[in-house]
Amino acid sequence: MAKSYENEHPIKAFGWAARDTFGALSPFNFSRRVTGEKDVQFKVMYCGICHSDLHQLKNEWGNSKYPVVPGHEIVGVVTEVGSKVEKFKVGDKVGVGCLVGSCRECENCSVDLENYCRRPTWTYNSYNSDGTLTFGGYSDIMVCDEHFVVHWPENLSMDAAPLLCAGITTYSPLKYFGLDKPGMHIGVVGLGGLGHMAVKFAKAFGTKVTVISTSASKKQEAIERLGADSFLISRDSEQMQDAVNTLDGIIDTVSAVHPILPLLMLLKSNGKLVMVGAPEKPVELPVFPLLMGRKLVAGSGIGGMKETQEMVDFAAKHNITPDVEIVPMDYVNIALERLLKSDVKYRFVLDIGNTLNKN
Ligand SMILES: [Zn+2]
Ligand SMILES: [Zn+2]
Repeated sequence: MAKSYENEHPIKAFGWAARDTFGALSPFNFSRRVTGEKDVQFKVMYCGICHSDLHQLKNEWGNSKYPVVPGHEIVGVVTEVGSKVEKFKVGDKVGVGCLVGSCRECENCSVDLENYCRRPTWTYNSYNSDGTLTFGGYSDIMVCDEHFVVHWPENLSMDAAPLLCAGITTYSPLKYFGLDKPGMHIGVVGLGGLGHMAVKFAKAFGTKVTVISTSASKKQEAIERLGADSFLISRDSEQMQDAVNTLDGIIDTVSAVHPILPLLMLLKSNGKLVMVGAPEKPVELPVFPLLMGRKLVAGSGIGGMKETQEMVDFAAKHNITPDVEIVPMDYVNIALERLLKSDVKYRFVLDIGNTLNKN
């Protein structure tokens, strides 16, 4: 029999895949590897829909490998563990984010920064060590090395799956750049999947939070729903002028090209602007305003496995969950269209466990 996605591995799996750059998803039979010594096999219950799924489905980053089964905000229940697995047992709730592998020996890997390994294995649209494609969480079953699996706390809702990408992407820079000290004043630019998590974490750290957005219509929800302390309309130069020199740090989640100078002006001396969105074209960086106040512009991408576990535990302890709209699997194409129009508060989560039906 010729090798196919259905029989390249022994374990039957089922999910939804895009076959070409149109990016439309449809049912897809494939297979997963046998649960290895260090592997955890789990039944997928929920999977978030991340903006990067949209990009990769349509090959907008130019590196898509079809068929693409997206999904890297995955929560499920363990069904089998390998003989050398130490951290998990059958029945445990678990999560998998953007990474399912890394080299495990480089400078980054050795200090729990697998996310910055130069030989990462992404959860989908990447290659396993045997050369087969990785397939993500829009599917019924996952098999993953335990190192890249996190414990899902008992009191954390399983549909809070977006913590695994949107959550860690905002938690990690707040921690690393020291923007987690009570009493600090933090700005959050953009109020989507990432931005709303940044607001929640920053508030939980005890900081004062200002949301900065182009759209005045988001003021009420930023303050009343998410608990932000204040709101700035970035296009209102008077408001922006009044807020000059007030922020200790900014988490900028906007992935469209946008002006940086007005944000630098909001920072106090030694202030830090951390970009976690990824504009497709370079942004203009005015240097003089950086010099005058020793300001820093930086980037940050997801987080390592140790920190991802810490973030999930923190979220459980402080009752921080993403605001989600739970949808059935066969709604996925509509959800993706709505996501493109930012018509979601703030993350779609696929109810894989109850709605991924083979027929
Ligand atoms: Zn993501
Ligand atoms: Zn590495």
